[in-house]
Amino acid sequence: MTRDSWLEGHSYLRPLADLSAQVNRAADEIDVLDARLPDWDDYRLDYLAGVPLLSSTDAVVDLEPGGRMAAALLERLAAATSPDWFVAETCALDTDLRRAPVVSRYIVDFLRGDESLIPPSPGLLRYLAWTAMARYLRPVVVAFDGWRDEDRWLRRHCPTCGSLPAMAQLVGADHGRKRLLSCGCCGTRWVFKRTCCPFCETDAQRLASVSIDGEPGLRIDHCESCGGYLKTYNGQGDEPLLLSDWSSLHLDLIAHDRGLKRLAASLYEFEPVRHP
Ligand SMILES: [Zn+2]
Ligand SMILES: [Zn+2]
Repeated sequence: MTRDSWLEGHSYLRPLADLSAQVNRAADEIDVLDARLPDWDDYRLDYLAGVPLLSSTDAVVDLEPGGRMAAALLERLAAATSPDWFVAETCALDTDLRRAPVVSRYIVDFLRGDESLIPPSPGLLRYLAWTAMARYLRPVVVAFDGWRDEDRWLRRHCPTCGSLPAMAQLVGADHGRKRLLSCGCCGTRWVFKRTCCPFCETDAQRLASVSIDGEPGLRIDHCESCGGYLKTYNGQGDEPLLLSDWSSLHLDLIAHDRGLKRLAASLYEFEPVRHP
């Protein structure tokens, strides 16, 4: 499955696909700074206590270089000459952030949830900053995947950055079938119980599933207790496309029409979603 063949069948997704491609192209031109791996032994106790890696004060991962990459991405996008709303909003954001004493520090504090920071277009900043930060963190996420004992986590939030999942994925077959949750921010995927709702944490087999005509690889799992839903990729091999969240925006509309609530984290809560 390629992005182009997906868009042939889902032409209404093209504005978001184009935006995502524009941002990824700009991000590809940013130098990826080196992320130093933490000492996993220093982190072990926090891990067992459910503290996400980036929140651990024992295993410090320096996010500042990722903040610098995010500032560079913003600057690059703001320098584009096309007169569309996206460039205009990115310019306004870039201009505003330059008032901060250290832009990279501002971005890191914002991603860490500092509520005293109120940038224009916070949704856009979250999206762009995580796009750059995820590239910076990739070696850490890969090493963490190798070190982590999944059975000792099984929590609803991302073991790396602490976000709630954006989507889920079912992998393996029969008795070995597992459900992974997928972080839309840092890109980590982690194991979660198959029958448990990641939002209200009810584990009473009250998860129902809606399959979508013409979309054998995707379904909507929802909880009868809290009404939350999670889009689920039922397959393997097309993770970059089918776990990207934007590629299944139509499932969010179907879920919304059924009265279900999106409790999953989203990086696409900004203008093009509301005004395509
Ligand atoms: Zn994460
Ligand atoms: Zn629930």
